[in-house]
Amino acid sequence: MNRFNIALDGPAGAGKSTVARLVASSLGFVYVDTGAMYRAVTWKVLQLGLRPDDAEEVARATREMDIKLARSDRGQLVYVDGEDITDYIRSAEINKCVSLIASNPQVRELLVDKQKALAEGKGVVMDGRDIGTKVLPDAEVKVFLTASARRRAERRYAEAARPDQTIEEMEAEISNRDRIDSSREVSPLRKADDAVLLDTTEMELAEVVDAVLSLCRSYV
Ligand code: C5P
Repeated sequence: MNRFNIALDGPAGAGKSTVARLVASSLGFVYVDTGAMYRAVTWKVLQLGLRPDDAEEVARATREMDIKLARSDRGQLVYVDGEDITDYIRSAEINKCVSLIASNPQVRELLVDKQKALAEGKGVVMDGRDIGTKVLPDAEVKVFLTASARRRAERRYAEAARPDQTIEEMEAEISNRDRIDSSREVSPLRKADDAVLLDTTEMELAEVVDAVLSLCRSYV
């Protein structure tokens, strides 16, 4: 089978990670969750007691840390300096700071280089905010997933093992992240001109996966 790359972008809670995982497993591709990398940096910054708005210190910590993504039966695992931090990166505290950390141009440069290297061999489904525009502008398939903020908050709530926020708090938090992600100077959240837009507000998961797989058909 031909190997090619798939870029999946969109706002928080649009279903990117679930769709990316299922599409990757159906094609035998590798799934790369780039949001987890920004979350890993945020976790480290908070562990070190740094101020998230101290751009130089945050960039230095990012340069010095080792981030690894690994596959397992329970999905993608995230390691920082050898420690498995997968269970800690989706907390309300990290949700609150991650978009500020992700607006740091030096952090982005370091992580984008890692992301490009992960996709070099092709056969990757990568999800994020700037994959189609910046990380993999030559990806063969590009999709921009979106849904109403309410629907996205409901999905995030249903996904959380032990929700530490109400649906209303989640909706406010993801709307705030979308605002920061869309208005930052470096690589803002934006649909690539050649990406296919899928509004999943009224779609079932299986329909979304089918729609993405059908876009892949000409490459398989
Ligand atoms: O995808 P997820 O919600 O886990 O991403 C967390 C945050 O990481 C986003 O709100 C965004 O600020 C940042 N991010 C980014 N670029 C990416 C992936 C995530 O700026 N490619």
